[in-house]
Amino acid sequence: MLPEPLSIDEVVPLSPGNVGLAVLGQPIGHSISPLLHHAALNKLAIKECGFSLWHYGRIDIHPDQLGDGLERLKECGYTGLNLTIPHKVKVFDIIENIDQEAVAMGAVNTLFYKSQKWVGYNTDGYGVSKAVSCHLGYQIKDSSVLILGAGGAARAASVQFLREGCRELKILNRSKERMQSLLNLLNDRFGSAEVSGETFDTVDAKHILDRDWLIVNATSSGLNKNDISPFPFDLSLLGKGSAVYDMIYNPSKTKLLEEAECAGLPFANGLHMLVYQAAKALEIWTGREVCSETMLQAALGSLSDEL
Ligand code: NDP
Repeated sequence: MLPEPLSIDEVVPLSPGNVGLAVLGQPIGHSISPLLHHAALNKLAIKECGFSLWHYGRIDIHPDQLGDGLERLKECGYTGLNLTIPHKVKVFDIIENIDQEAVAMGAVNTLFYKSQKWVGYNTDGYGVSKAVSCHLGYQIKDSSVLILGAGGAARAASVQFLREGCRELKILNRSKERMQSLLNLLNDRFGSAEVSGETFDTVDAKHILDRDWLIVNATSSGLNKNDISPFPFDLSLLGKGSAVYDMIYNPSKTKLLEEAECAGLPFANGLHMLVYQAAKALEIWTGREVCSETMLQAALGSLSDEL
C-alpha cells in the first residue's frame, strides 16, 4: 500500500542526508511511480548504501501552485521530480533551463535540481517508443499513427514517432485550441511530414476507417473506470493491421482496450511506458544505470489484482 499523496502544504524539510524525489500531478492517486523507484533505489543501495536515503513520494498540486511548489520542494531537499497531468506544458512558463529534447517536444516530465536551478527533461518520448516497439511489437517506421489527445504526453509521442519515420500522423483532441497548438509545434519542426489534426466532434469517418492505424490514447479519458472510450468510432471498422496503445495503466484495461480486444486488434496498456520513462528519469537523477526489469516486477506486483 502506498502512503496517501501529500498536498504541497504538507511537504516538510527532509532530514539531513536524505534526498527527495516525487511525482507532481492532479489527479495523482492512480500513480504507482513510488513503487517502481523504490524498487530500483533498493537495488542501487545494495552497492551504494547512500541510495537508501532517497525517497520518492506523490504530491497533489494545482497548476496555479506549481511555481511556488517547485521553490518549496527545493528548500525541503527535493532534487528530482516527475510531472504528470496537467503540468508538463505549463512548466515552460516557470523554469528557464530546459534540455533540447524536451524543448523539441514542447513538454517536460522530469525535473532535476542541479547547479542551483531546476532543469527540465523529457523521458516520455523514449518510454512510449520503447513500449510500442518492444511490448506491443508495432513498427513505427512508415506507419500511420493516430494520437488521441494533445497534452504533454501526446506532444512527446508525436515528436518521437515523427522522428522515427512514421509516414502519417493525425491528432484527434477534444479542444480545438490544444490540438492547434500541437499542430503548430509539429508543423514548425516537421514541415514536410504528413501531419494533420481534428477535434473529436468534427472528425470525418472517411479519413480514418478501413485503414491500418496505430492508435495511441494520450488523453486522461479512461483513468476512471466508468469513462467512455475516447475513440469516436467502432474499432472493428479499422484495417486489420491496426493496433491500440493506451498510455493509461491503472485501470489496466480501459474501455478503449476492451473494445480493441473485442475487435481482435493487438493492444497494450501504458505500464511498459511508465517503466521505461521512469528508469530514464532515475538515471538522470542518480547518474547510474537503472534496471528497468526491477521496476517492471514492482509494478506488476502492485497491479497483479487487476492484470
Ligand atoms: P495533459 O493534462 O497534458 O493532457 C490531457 C489530454 O487529455 C488533453 O488532450 C485533454 O483534452 C484530454 N482529455 C482530458 N479529459 C478528456 C476527456 N474526458 N475526453 C477526451 N479527452 C480528454 O495530460 P498528459 O498529457 O500528461 O497525460 C495524458 C494521459 O497519458 C494521462 O492519462 C496520463 O496518465 C497518461 N500518461 C501515461 C504515461 C505512462 O508512463 N504510462 C506517461 C504520461 C502520461 P483537452 O485539450 O480537450 O482538455
